[in-house]
Amino acid sequence: GSTIGILGGGQLGRMLAIEAAYLGYRVITYAPEAHSVAAQVSNDVFQNKWNDSAAMAAFAAQCDVVTWEFENVPVEPLAPLESLLAPHPRALETAQDRLAEKRFVEQLGGRTAPYASVETTADLDAAIDRIGAPGILKTRRDGYDGKGQWRIESRHDADGIALPGTPCIYEGLVTFEAEFSVILVRGQNGEIRFWDSAENTHEGGILTRSTLPPCKAVADQVEAARELARQVADALEYTGVLTAEFFATADGPVFNEIAPRVHNSGHWTIEGAVTSQFANHIRAICGLPLGDTTTTAPQIEMENIIGKAAGTATDLLAESGAHLHLYGKTKARKGRKMGHVTRIGHDPVAPAE
Ligand code: ATP
Ligand code: MG
Ligand code: MG
Repeated sequence: GSTIGILGGGQLGRMLAIEAAYLGYRVITYAPEAHSVAAQVSNDVFQNKWNDSAAMAAFAAQCDVVTWEFENVPVEPLAPLESLLAPHPRALETAQDRLAEKRFVEQLGGRTAPYASVETTADLDAAIDRIGAPGILKTRRDGYDGKGQWRIESRHDADGIALPGTPCIYEGLVTFEAEFSVILVRGQNGEIRFWDSAENTHEGGILTRSTLPPCKAVADQVEAARELARQVADALEYTGVLTAEFFATADGPVFNEIAPRVHNSGHWTIEGAVTSQFANHIRAICGLPLGDTTTTAPQIEMENIIGKAAGTATDLLAESGAHLHLYGKTKARKGRKMGHVTRIGHDPVAPAE
């Protein structure tokens, strides 16, 4: 087949569509929002609500394979896409609910932050009794970039807190040395390849920076984290790029969450790996051979451009070794990802002592 459908209209879809074009595919974006930045680079667009069953059926009829760039796409309206979806939607079902996700990973032997299901203030009291504070209250569904999360510093903070009116999870705050993600691609035949793991820095729950090589704590824990990520991918019979976020702690890696998709912490792979996460996702879902994931430079840093007008970033074009990506978003808002820059360094690496 030669037409790829992408559910979701953000920058991840845009970068997938650009890679798909390199391989000669036609891309159709399905996204409810006006001014989708993925639609700007797609051959066609369905600007329809997720639950518009006629539009979904028409979209299905035009696609040979359908994937997603956004893990909060509702699963039920995807029924007409049943035979076309890659990865399988069971990955969405698991990753969309923080409670189901943590239970699933624990069953595979992974370690998570201590957590409790919270639907009432009595549940929250009991959770703080058992887990302690500080902690974070998170909605089980629909969160991203730290949205739908509330830090609870002390038991006192929890008194009189207004719950968001949707099922939540309370997590103990993990003391970590660093954060990192394992990004893998799994082919239709079950073959798995990993990219190197960058060290990720977040501010206010939003990824700001990914750096390679990572600190020692991360480097030492990548192998154990990869084993868990591999089990997750195998258990989901996953096809495509899968990301698992971890905390590197004094006691080893603690699982944070899965993103069943290409990931912001893998943007550096566009210039810094033989085959990028976007190219390998397209290859995997189309049943093509996977590409080499090897890192190609000794130093790499990806920095997000968040909340400021994209035009102010064009100074970066004068910087040697800096690769600027702007997502085509016209309105800057606080916390909105407008673009990113990847800096590739070629300084010789000091020989090991
Ligand atoms: P994403 O955009 O990655 O999907 P999200 O909204 O799903 O983000 P999380 O990954 O749950 O949010 O949390 C965002 C960040 O907040 C984490 O990367 C980490 O920096 C911090 N954080 C979240 N949960 C915890 C925790 N239990 N202990 C310590 N820090 C945490
Ligand atoms: Mg998330
Ligand atoms: Mg996260």
